[in-house]
Amino acid sequence: MIKQKIDVEAPLKQEYLFGPVPSRRLGISLGIDLIPHKTCSLNCVYCECGRTTNLTVVRKEYVPTDQVIEELDQYLKNRPGLDYITFAGSGEPMLHSRISQIINWLKTTHPGYKLCLLTNGTLFADQKTRKEALNLDLIIPSLDAATEESFLKINRPHTSLKCAKMIEDLVKLREEFPGIIILEIMIVPGINDCQQELVALKSAIERIKPDRVQLGTLDRPGTENWVEAASLETMKKIARFLGNVELIGNFKPRRQIASFNEMHSDSILEVLKRRPCTVEDLQQSLNLHPAELQKYVNQLLEEGLIKVEQRERGQFLIIVDQP
Ligand code: SF4
Repeated sequence: MIKQKIDVEAPLKQEYLFGPVPSRRLGISLGIDLIPHKTCSLNCVYCECGRTTNLTVVRKEYVPTDQVIEELDQYLKNRPGLDYITFAGSGEPMLHSRISQIINWLKTTHPGYKLCLLTNGTLFADQKTRKEALNLDLIIPSLDAATEESFLKINRPHTSLKCAKMIEDLVKLREEFPGIIILEIMIVPGINDCQQELVALKSAIERIKPDRVQLGTLDRPGTENWVEAASLETMKKIARFLGNVELIGNFKPRRQIASFNEMHSDSILEVLKRRPCTVEDLQQSLNLHPAELQKYVNQLLEEGLIKVEQRERGQFLIIVDQP
């Protein structure tokens, strides 16, 4: 494939850090990716990183801890303004067996920064693992299903995982973790939006007792073509039923966040003006981390500047002709 050349400023060499990304929930967020693409204990139908190719629950040092710390040290030495440093990226961060070493190093060496973990919540069975997360400020576990049936359909877990056990472990995490827990639920129409599923989810929320619950739905191309977004009306109804739930769609637009990089947004439009591309094509052309690229694609989709079209090779992003 011929790569398009785009004029972008040479970024600081970062193998394990990305961003800072403009996060609608976290503000200016520096990402740390500890997992090779695409290693996860789940294979969610809506995943923005594509299908899980290494479905595993084995914790190990997937990327060299010392190098991650070195990159962080380089990046943070000038004390950049960040709202959060976030463990996220190409899979489940808790799979990295030395994540606690990085968390504790950050808290000791750069105590001014708040640390967040985006996790699928499947790896908190051991007290030892839950202890590793104690120094974080914020944990955002996802919980899309509270019945085994919808867990299998939406999250397509590793065979050793059970939904009921995961909920038990999240209850224990809540009891032991002193920081903030925000539970994230993705609504997948036709699977977890019926009365039975919502009753089960509500009961799980009542048991876990997170500080907040945030409800989202697909707002960009997901792994599976058949996954659709729930309508705003449905989302509002579900939010009312679950009670005290925030809709992710109501948060501040990314463009208003200080770390929004117009250059990335313009570069995406430049490439798409020349030819429609998949997210993977764009990633290769622009050399942006998938999680970072997705934030800009989502913003352009929300603004109606680009759209998604299903083609033989997958979902293509296309420029919308402006009047
Ligand atoms: S848990 Fe996250 S990274 Fe893993 S498959 Fe699901 S959405 Fe993707």
